[in-house]
Amino acid sequence: MFLPYAVLFVFGLLIGSFLNVCIYRIPKGKSIVSPPSSCPKCNSQIKPIHNIPVLSYILLRGRCNFCGAKISPIYPAIELLNAVAYVMVAAKFGFNGQSALIMALMSVFIVVTFIDLEHKIIPDGITLPGIALGLLLGPLVLKISFVNSLLGVIVGGGLFFLIAVFSRGGMGGGDIKLIAMMGGFIGWKGVLLTIFLGSVFGASVGIGLMAIKGMHRKTPIPFGPFLVAGAVVAIFWGGSFLEWYGGLHY
Ligand SMILES: [Zn+2]
Repeated sequence: MFLPYAVLFVFGLLIGSFLNVCIYRIPKGKSIVSPPSSCPKCNSQIKPIHNIPVLSYILLRGRCNFCGAKISPIYPAIELLNAVAYVMVAAKFGFNGQSALIMALMSVFIVVTFIDLEHKIIPDGITLPGIALGLLLGPLVLKISFVNSLLGVIVGGGLFFLIAVFSRGGMGGGDIKLIAMMGGFIGWKGVLLTIFLGSVFGASVGIGLMAIKGMHRKTPIPFGPFLVAGAVVAIFWGGSFLEWYGGLHY
C-alpha cells in the first residue's frame, strides 16, 4: 500500500508547483499556462531542472540560480502542503472518484487561502465557476442530493449576504461567493458547520492577535482562510460532528 501513496505524494507536489503559479498570477490577471515561470527579480526563465518541487529549492538553497535572489520558502511549503493534503484525502476516503474531487477542492482551497492572505481578495474567476461545478459535481460525484447542494449554495451565500448587508462592509463579496461554492459541494449541513467552525477559528485567531500584537478590533483579517479551515474539518470529520452516516453521504 506504500507505492500508491508515494506516487500520489509526488503528484501532489507537482500540482502544488502549479498552484504556486496560480497564486502568483491569478490576482495579476495573467495566464496560468504561459509563459513559463521566470525569476521575479532577474526575469531569467526557470529551467525544468530548477523547477523540481521542493528538491530544487533545497539544492539551490532557496536562491535563484542566475541572480541569487532569495526564493520565498512559501513555494516549497505550498507544494508540501498540497502533497500532504492529497495523501490525507486518500487515507480517509480511499482511491476513487470522490477522493479525486476532494483533492481538487483541497488544491482550490490552498489557492484561495494564499491569494486571500496576500491580496485580501478571493477571485470571482475561481468561485463563480466553482459554484456551478459544486451544483453539478456535489450530486454527481459526492452523491449528495441536488436539493441539498442547491440549499448549500443558498443557505451559505444567503447567510453571508445578510451579514454583509447588516455589517456594512464587515463581510466581503468574495467570502459570500466562496461559502456559496463550498455549499454546492457539501450541502446545507456542511455549510452551516463550516460557518460555525470558520467563525470559531477566526475569532480565536483574532483574539490571539489582539492580545499579542495589540491589534485594533477593526483591523481587517481575511476570512477566507478560516472558512477554508472550517470546510476542511467539515469534509474530513463532519460526519462524526453531525452524526451523518457513511462519510460524505450526508
Ligand atoms: Zn533571478
